[in-house]
Amino acid sequence: MSELNLVLLGPPGSGKGTQGDRLREDLELPYYATGDILREAVREQTELGREAKAYMDRGDLVPDEVIIGVIAERIAGHEAEDGFILDGFPRTVGQAEALEARMDELSKRLTAALLIDVSDDEVVRRLGGRRTCPNGHVFHVEFDPPQTEGVCDVCGAELQIRDDDKPDVIKHRLAQYREKTEPLVAWYDERGLLERVDGSKEPDVVAEDIRALLATLRMEEEA
Ligand code: AMP
Repeated sequence: MSELNLVLLGPPGSGKGTQGDRLREDLELPYYATGDILREAVREQTELGREAKAYMDRGDLVPDEVIIGVIAERIAGHEAEDGFILDGFPRTVGQAEALEARMDELSKRLTAALLIDVSDDEVVRRLGGRRTCPNGHVFHVEFDPPQTEGVCDVCGAELQIRDDDKPDVIKHRLAQYREKTEPLVAWYDERGLLERVDGSKEPDVVAEDIRALLATLRMEEEA
């Protein structure tokens, strides 16, 4: 079986993280979510975290040169030998070009860019209700409430609203997505790599759609 190298595309709140988690389990592939990597770097106050924090708090993208190296290193590692799943990267055409060049160097090929599509209204509804615990467990006041309000079911820590899930910042993140990341939809489409999934459906249904799509891609590859 050849490598499976996937990019998850979609606006913030489209469910990339939820679907990425399931894919990681189903496919047993490493999963690199740049948002998670950066938040961890901020928590640990590494140099990367110090560089990224102010951008993240504003809902701006961190500069390409800050993030490209992080991913270039990970996809070259031993654990990514059979493939990888990228969530939240690339987010600009510059990042997509850097990824393409790096993969060429490594003689790797992208299997597909999966676009999980949802409307702006849905994004605002989803992110506005999201609550996270300091250890990364995620809940939603409407769709996935914790058993006790404000407390993490898994580790008992207090739930918080991510700074960048505040209403003004959500609007700004969406604007950044439409301006800087959405052009990647056409970019991957031109390369014959774009696959669309309707992200407005229930997470289980979206996961099923993705599974079916990957099965088709594999069949096409083997044909
Ligand atoms: P996320 O959790 O994917 O929504 O990412 C949270 C924040 O991390 C974003 O709003 C950006 O500030 C930053 N970030 C994550 N991935 C990237 C990327 N590929 N390029 C630039 N900034 C990023």
